[in-house]
Amino acid sequence: MKKLYLMTPGPTPVPEAVMLEMAKPIIHHRTAQFQEIIKQVEEDLKYVFQTKNDVLIFASSGTGAMEAAVCNLLSAQDTVIVVRTGKFGERWTEICKAYGVKSVDIDIEWGYAADPKIIEDALKKEPNAKAVFVTLCETSTGAEINTKAIADITSKTKAVLVVDAISGLGACQLKTDEWGVDVVVSGSQKGLMIPPGLGFVSVSPKAWELVKQSKSPKYYFDFVASKKALDKTDTPYTPAITLIIGLAKALKMIKEETIEAVWSRHAKMAQATRAAVVAMGLELFAPTAPSAAVTPVKAPAGIDGEQIVKLLKSKYGIWVAGGQAQLKGKVFRIAHLGYMTATDILMTISALEMVLVELGVKIKQGAGIAAAQQELAKK
Ligand SMILES: *Cc1c(COP(=O)(O)O)cnc(C)c1O
Repeated sequence: MKKLYLMTPGPTPVPEAVMLEMAKPIIHHRTAQFQEIIKQVEEDLKYVFQTKNDVLIFASSGTGAMEAAVCNLLSAQDTVIVVRTGKFGERWTEICKAYGVKSVDIDIEWGYAADPKIIEDALKKEPNAKAVFVTLCETSTGAEINTKAIADITSKTKAVLVVDAISGLGACQLKTDEWGVDVVVSGSQKGLMIPPGLGFVSVSPKAWELVKQSKSPKYYFDFVASKKALDKTDTPYTPAITLIIGLAKALKMIKEETIEAVWSRHAKMAQATRAAVVAMGLELFAPTAPSAAVTPVKAPAGIDGEQIVKLLKSKYGIWVAGGQAQLKGKVFRIAHLGYMTATDILMTISALEMVLVELGVKIKQGAGIAAAQQELAKK
């Protein structure tokens, strides 16, 4: 028999209560019953996004919501600044390119967050930049940016701040309105604890001004059409009914726990994971700006990171993620994201120690799990 445990930074495990909701017979979306659900989901999404702005919902993965942000805010020949802290930061550039938007790319060494000062300087050099794109938690490197400091800078300029919070939402602290973040993009299969298939975008009044000017082609992802329907508690097209019903339940769980408690649960799991791998003698990939959502760990010298991933899965049923792009084989990534608790971390760290011993890596067996226990026991 095989029992599997998903410890990847998306998709993440779906709570049983959410799966049961989604197993119920499908209902029609043009009904008062579904309108009630939309209303509740919208209210609870605003709570999780920490915003009063509308949160638009699309039937797409997170990348669809990223594309929607680009084609609704900008036009060909517009200039934007893209802060690239890893693989997902690069995606902003690729999407901009597809729409003829000129991106000034700031490449940050992988594993590090961007110094807000660099963004301030870039905006001085490009005073006509209409937007700054960043990644809250760069899932490929594990680094988390200082969103508040960056928002302080963009708030004083004409540029809107667009944050890819696909893995960050519901894990890393994010106070959209309080910090002055204009556009927050997210997806369903990470911190929100439901399967893949929904993309979200929150849009500030400053960002809506840009939407009015945008000439980029769009149809399904048109923010104006989406907002018009939302104002009538409706959707322009058939929504992903089942996922939205699951989302309603997942959001209720988050609200009951409170967003502050959700953030601290993630921070604590992250802290325990880091303490454990360091105690084992392994090295963190992003020690200076570690995120609350995922911890990439450098593979020990002479060991292929993919082998650790494979063994954890085949022997213990634990799915962690390997490295992406140039980090393939060099790191493995342990998620602490969404429907995960201290117990999941204990299980993963314990199995990791066994796998490393099996691979002949010299570690002090038990040191990692002891460190994790100590962190998790802290009040
Ligand atoms: C997962 C992820 C994406 C891509 O989302 P999809 O749902 O796979 O399209 C983009 N950015 C970040 C930071 C992510 O973690």
